[in-house]
Amino acid sequence: MAKIIMKTPLVEMDGDEMTRILWQWIKDILLVPYVELNTEYYDLGLKHREETKDQVTLDSAEATKKYGVAVKCATITPNAARMPEYNLTQMWKSPNGTIRAALDGTVFRTPIIVKGIEPYIPTWTKPITIARHAYGDVYKNAEIRVEKGCKAELVVTDAQGNETRELIHDFAKSDGIIQGLHNLDESIAGFARACLNYGLDLKQDVWFATKDTISKKYDHRFKDIFQEIYDNEYKERYEAAGIEYFYTLIDDAVARVIRSEGGYIWACKNYDGDVMSDMVSTAYGSLAMMTSVLVSPDGIYEYEAAHGTVQRHYYKYLKGEETSTNSVATIFAWSGALRKRGELDGTPELCEFADKLEKATIQTIENGIMTGDLYLISKLENKKKVDSKTFLEEIKVNLDKMM
Ligand code: NAP
Ligand code: MG
Repeated sequence: MAKIIMKTPLVEMDGDEMTRILWQWIKDILLVPYVELNTEYYDLGLKHREETKDQVTLDSAEATKKYGVAVKCATITPNAARMPEYNLTQMWKSPNGTIRAALDGTVFRTPIIVKGIEPYIPTWTKPITIARHAYGDVYKNAEIRVEKGCKAELVVTDAQGNETRELIHDFAKSDGIIQGLHNLDESIAGFARACLNYGLDLKQDVWFATKDTISKKYDHRFKDIFQEIYDNEYKERYEAAGIEYFYTLIDDAVARVIRSEGGYIWACKNYDGDVMSDMVSTAYGSLAMMTSVLVSPDGIYEYEAAHGTVQRHYYKYLKGEETSTNSVATIFAWSGALRKRGELDGTPELCEFADKLEKATIQTIENGIMTGDLYLISKLENKKKVDSKTFLEEIKVNLDKMM
């Protein structure tokens, strides 16, 4: 069988620890036999980030802007313990943070659903994708502890030095605390467009919610920007696609989410997204079954798994012990990137391969062959736990039947 050709390169960002091992095996077993892989390779492993003084991360982000699609392996974000382990000269920043800043992107996280792994909310039969606004609010705040007897005000000074003041609170009777938040119209608009574009991509409704009844200027601004952009730029395309943009209050939204069957994108303000993405991913069963894609407002895509480098398994692997690490989210990062490359290049055979790879992966688990994390929670009767590499080989058996 002739291998599938890739017209345009894909940016490949290699990573660290156990996921780096899985990365190579996924390529060797599930990709290279079928696809003439055309990638521009960047090694974001911590060793090479140190060697290049993190230039490689910036270069990989620039390449992503150039080619439009990237696939990324999990990487170590250094902490104090990593300094001696990797002989670091600096505690390099999180590559994900650097890439997100360079692309001004929004992260969408989607669970992969398989029979036997049942969500804690039994009605969630379709995935809920969470999009988190990654700028401002409480994550870029200013805070002051205030002593009794003080008065706190918001002060805005314009370019001519004129002040606008608003009383926050008169702390006449007690000590207390204050907090200053901000956001930018431009950032909110970029977030709105990324979410509304992704809705069109997935042909799914987009939900958005804030507390605009209480926060009549701050949260209301989010609501207004989303609505304006939807009405002016997306309404017609949404109606043609048979999908909708839906706004409601955040407390109404959480109640509806719990009662829903899933199958939509939930756009969240920064703090809501932080909290809700952990709740939703736990409710679907396993972090190892969660995919993540960073989408820029101008339509650049970077695919990855939502989990980290699975350090504990890597140390077992180094000692020669058997590991049973789940590669599903990393496989789906590759399939997502290949499908997007195929869509952009007009090569349907690449998209079909991505579909088959995902099907073969899901089929393997639904046939009862799975890694240890899933074995613990699967409700299937004839289930079998296999090691990291055998799992990939079993997927290949199913994939070969489809090719
Ligand atoms: P982690 O790698 O996500 O792993 C935490 C635990 O979750 C593992 O020890 C394992 O539990 C389970 N787990 C996660 N993914 C799994 C998989 N694919 N298969 C089976 N089990 C899985 O998080 P971490 O240990 O806190 O972080 C390790 C490194 O990853 C850190 O250096 C961190 O900076 C980095 N990180 C990177 C990213 C990224 O690049 N996007 C994201 C998060 C963290 P058991 O040990 O119980 O089996
Ligand atoms: Mg969180």
